[in-house]
Amino acid sequence: MGFKTIIEPFRIKSVEALRFTDEATRRRALEEAGGNVFLLRSDDVLIDLLTDSGTGAMSATQWGALMQGDESYAGSRSFYRFQSVVQDLTGFRHVIPTHQGRAAERILFESVLTVGDVVPNNNHFDTTRANIEVEGAEARDLVIPEGRVPSLVHPFKGNVDLAALERTLETDGVRVPLVMVTVTNNSGGGQPVSLENLRGVRALCDRFGKPLFLDACRFAENAWFIKQREAGQADQTPKAIAQAMFGLADGCTMSAKKDGLANIGGFLALNDDAWADKGTHAADSDRRLPHLRRPGGL
Ligand SMILES: *Cc1c(COP(=O)(O)O)cnc(C)c1O
Repeated sequence: MGFKTIIEPFRIKSVEALRFTDEATRRRALEEAGGNVFLLRSDDVLIDLLTDSGTGAMSATQWGALMQGDESYAGSRSFYRFQSVVQDLTGFRHVIPTHQGRAAERILFESVLTVGDVVPNNNHFDTTRANIEVEGAEARDLVIPEGRVPSLVHPFKGNVDLAALERTLETDGVRVPLVMVTVTNNSGGGQPVSLENLRGVRALCDRFGKPLFLDACRFAENAWFIKQREAGQADQTPKAIAQAMFGLADGCTMSAKKDGLANIGGFLALNDDAWADKGTHAADSDRRLPHLRRPGGL
């Protein structure tokens, strides 16, 4: 089955002017920022490669839907629609909407981590690592060795090193409240994780009695890579593959600003009632008392 576009199948009807800079200006700006791109002013940046978070243009339908959103203080129709779409895709029982992915992470980790805990992952995204470390826990990267060598070709360089995960669960299992897998592995170059590898992680989680959470920000791209590269998956739809991925997990954190193609949004979705209860309280206190929470934090 071929996939080919001659031109992009859309028309762009909104433009934003860019300030053109010259090399000397850019060099000076970088020096003043001490080489830290987070300290640059966006006006000094001509081509912005800092992040993939919220950088896509939204469609006319998405902007139109904003005007039709139900802004009711409680019981919003838009929430129920959101919930049913997320549940259809992920199969998870509880859906907690957040303003973006890092908020879902903070709510999850604040609810379930204690000092000294260990969270294994293929590679932790930078905000995920920060939200774990701020709780005094360790974010442990266990991607396969091939995933650390950019020049190597391998179809699923985001795969978890199952032997390393097994060792972590054997040695530090009591300190591991959950296992995470990032699909695709964004900090490792956006490399995909195979269904076979996810099944292997699931089997270890079952053996050691640990819940598995996906950091699902690029789940759709991961499903597409599985369709293209994994034996026996070519005839599955990307949605069916995504459902199979989520079906192996107990919950996920999600940024809608990547594969969700929105400029803001995200969610925490999970099956466990007690964790969902804690998460809902954490999310609710965020909404009511934003000024009382960690000023300047993530
Ligand atoms: C972008 C991203 C996040 C954080 O999401 P935001 O919506 O930018 O807060 C977390 N994990 C991964 C893998 C991501 O790609």
